[in-house]
This record gives sequence, structure tokens and C-alpha cells, in this order.
Amino acid sequence: MIINSSNNVPEIRLQQMIERLKASDCRITPQRYAVLNVLAKSTDHPSAESIHAELINHYPTMSLATVYKTINLLKREGEILELEFSDLGNRYDGNKPYPHPHVICSECGKIVDPSQLDLDAITNKMMAETGFKILTHRLDFYGLCPDCQ
Ligand SMILES: [Zn+2]
Ligand SMILES: [Zn+2]
Repeated sequence: MIINSSNNVPEIRLQQMIERLKASDCRITPQRYAVLNVLAKSTDHPSAESIHAELINHYPTMSLATVYKTINLLKREGEILELEFSDLGNRYDGNKPYPHPHVICSECGKIVDPSQLDLDAITNKMMAETGFKILTHRLDFYGLCPDCQ
């Protein structure tokens, strides 16, 4: 099962991503490094556009295409979780590249990881009941965040 947990120290996560990309012969350019750094430290599931907006002041030549290319490299290596939404577009979790539940504000689009939800027991029950080998899952909870209530 690919459902696992890892620690969420941004520096360690950044190194993990860099090592994984280097092992696949990807060059870590300063701009790619900057994108990886944002993904490693973000807990708010940024979009490619918001990553680009965060970096453009420091890296005036940074293009949105560079952000997307870096994200695609991570996707190929299984080092990022892509969340597709019809209304919010694609959002990314570089901290936890494995399936996990999300809590989403339907007003402002904020996305948070609940930490106290253990899905292992539910998943095991589901496999026992259906005979399926569960490989992945997508679980979204919608509501209003504290700021929007
Ligand atoms: Zn909100
Ligand atoms: Zn997440």
C-alpha cells in the first residue's frame, strides 16, 4: 500500500525531492530549486499560479512553464500529490506525496490536511468486505474555514 506517513520537516522534504530528481538525472537549476523549496514548505496546497506569483519577485525570469515542468518531474517520480478540482483548478501537495484526506473551504478554496484521521482501519475493512486491493483513495471534506464562517 502506498498510504504511508513521513515526517514533515520542510528541509528534509526538500532534500528528499532533490535526491529523487538527481537520481533520475534531472538538473536542479536555481529556479527548479526555488519551486521545490516552495512546495516543501507549503502546507496550503498551492496552485502552479500561486507558486509562480510567490517566486516572480525573486526570480524575474521565472516562467509559469518552469513551475509546471518542475511539477511534472515530481509527478513522474511520485514525489507530489496532484489534486484536481473543477472549480479550483489543480492544487499540489509536495509535503505528503501519498493519498490523504483534505478539508476544503468552499468559499475561499483553502485546503488543509487533517492530522487526526487514520484511514488504515477503514481501508482494511473495505478490502476485507469487497475483496479489492485498495491502491489509492481520494477523500475531500467541504465546509467553511474559520475565516469564512
Ligand atoms: Zn475560507
Ligand atoms: Zn494535503
